[in-house]
Amino acid sequence: MSLAELQELERTSVIGSYARLPVEFVRGEGSRLWDVDGNEYLDFLCGISVTSLGHCHPRVVEAVRDQVGRLMHVSNLFYTEPSMRLAQKLSQSSLGGKVFFCNSGAEANEAAIKLARKARPAGEFVVALGAFHGRTYGSLSATPQESKQAPFAPLVPGFRAVEATPEALSAAVDQRTAAVILEPIQGESGVHVLSEQCLQAARDACDEHGAALIFDEIQCGMGRTGTLWAYEQAGVRPDAITTAKALGGGLPIGALVTGERLADVLSAGDHGSTFAGGPVVAAAALAALELTDDPRLLADVQQRGRQLADGLAQLAHVVAVRGRGLMLACELDVAAPEVMRTALSQQRLVTNATGPTTLRLLPPLTVSAAEIDEALRRLAAALEG
Ligand SMILES: *Cc1c(COP(=O)(O)O)cnc(C)c1O
Repeated sequence: MSLAELQELERTSVIGSYARLPVEFVRGEGSRLWDVDGNEYLDFLCGISVTSLGHCHPRVVEAVRDQVGRLMHVSNLFYTEPSMRLAQKLSQSSLGGKVFFCNSGAEANEAAIKLARKARPAGEFVVALGAFHGRTYGSLSATPQESKQAPFAPLVPGFRAVEATPEALSAAVDQRTAAVILEPIQGESGVHVLSEQCLQAARDACDEHGAALIFDEIQCGMGRTGTLWAYEQAGVRPDAITTAKALGGGLPIGALVTGERLADVLSAGDHGSTFAGGPVVAAAALAALELTDDPRLLADVQQRGRQLADGLAQLAHVVAVRGRGLMLACELDVAAPEVMRTALSQQRLVTNATGPTTLRLLPPLTVSAAEIDEALRRLAAALEG
């Protein structure tokens, strides 16, 4: 079907909750996408940090093909091998506790919220201004953004948003706090790195008052910043992390991973989800995690990240570059949404504007040095146009 036909179907049949750009993609491979007219694009967004191993990574495709033809679903009333192996690998590669699977990032945060509340009944949550944790009621209540929350009030009570500063975070935590929930690097608000002091202050306050420190690594985890998890670089160990987005290598899966202390808070019947940890998505995620937890790949992410950040800083109209590894944003002195649209339609470079002057770049972790140079040339042209 043509783009015009899809747009007509959308107009008549799809709830208008998304503002789509006028491109119909039909195929992807590595860092490239192709539209319905056969035009080739460089993808520096990865479906918002989902296809981080490039499109249709052969090992992920093979894992899915192999599993999908044998067994797709039996529910969590029974055992299947992929989710058990994935849980072991996730735990061993992070906090060493236990894993709860779900189907998205918001659900991973829901699970974290429920777990923290069970650990400290009726406890409250401290979150940072500018945070994004998802769109379900719990995760939305943890997302202190007026435009996202206001139409859906009343929200879940017990969430308090404070500035992401060491002082504010320390002051906000007390004996009633169930958890502090933080993105080590805030993604949706435009790639804002929380300082080590901030994360350490939250750690100290949680230790002092017996609260849980939960890091939302849904966007910044899975190798995006050049270590498997972003917390590794901050040198602050949380009590639990949430992951999703790139975890499934392109398929929908989320997970809450705890450390030892919170591993046995939830028990049978406390929480669940029909599709969670199904064999097909778990097989995909196991392949994705094995590919990502690779010192060579992670070293490449750091090197390519420096190349991209340095290149961006040289471009006209770029006034600042923020981020870590291949999770970067540049601040422009021109309108970012317009640059994003020009880059897409005229330069065939996929990027994302997170605000009026902020352009976010999330290229595949497998991107080559030559592809970064090419993207920088295309972005330079879009900035001039
Ligand atoms: C995308 C995102 C979420 C929500 O994930 P969904 O899969 O869209 O529910 C939560 N937290 C962060 C940091 C995210 O980037």
